[in-house]
Amino acid sequence: MPETIQPRMPAVFIGHGTPFNALNDNQFTRTWREFGRSIPKPKAILAVSAHWYIGATAATASPAPKTVHDFNGFPREMYEIDYPAPGSPELVRALQELVRPTWLGLDTADQWGLDHGTWSVLTHMFPEADVPVVQLSVDATQPVSYHLDLGRRLAPLRDEGVLVLGSGNIVHNLGRLSPREEDPHVMDWALAFDAFAKEKLEQGDHRALVDYEKQGHTARLAVPTNDHYLPMLYTLGALGEKEGVRFTHESFQHGSISMRCFEGV
Ligand code: ZN
Repeated sequence: MPETIQPRMPAVFIGHGTPFNALNDNQFTRTWREFGRSIPKPKAILAVSAHWYIGATAATASPAPKTVHDFNGFPREMYEIDYPAPGSPELVRALQELVRPTWLGLDTADQWGLDHGTWSVLTHMFPEADVPVVQLSVDATQPVSYHLDLGRRLAPLRDEGVLVLGSGNIVHNLGRLSPREEDPHVMDWALAFDAFAKEKLEQGDHRALVDYEKQGHTARLAVPTNDHYLPMLYTLGALGEKEGVRFTHESFQHGSISMRCFEGV
């Protein structure tokens, strides 16, 4: 990337919850807006969304990635949301170099685009959609440690003015949701796993977070599939073990989805 002086960007993890948060003005979305206002404007954003969980390591490479409405049965207004941020061929090239020798598939034909894991958050964080965005897939074929390692290789991007954004949920089990979005009763296993993750994040114990399956029954309920968990490891990798984390939000949606968000400090 060209030699311009850029402030070092934080890396951030956002618990994104229901796609409706794109339209909502609530306790979650207000913290996302606040975060966007609290940092210098990034040169670009590298987003790792839970919703591009595929059998390859790939990046969006279109100069104008489309807004993907990757859900069914939602009201029309959800399908009318457009987040027209440009892509960044420059960031894609930098990414290819950083992840080498890992092969990076390039979605030049815009088969995917920006999905709701990215735009439901960015529509609050950067409502002008004027910061270029590249989305990186979560490779479902790889072991958990791969995702932390890949995240570590993204760290130099922060010195180039790139904001690394992981978007998922530390606890996410769609089969066990409470029908009430703001249910005050949070399920025990959700509380327990979220507390485990919080403690390990505070301790900088990334290894324990990679080995989350050792939490046994609690982990099986909290992380039945790891698509929403893994984006967190990219944020952690980009931060490194020496950098502490600050929780910008902690609560639950639908009685079980951890909405925990953090950034590096
Ligand atoms: Zn999601």
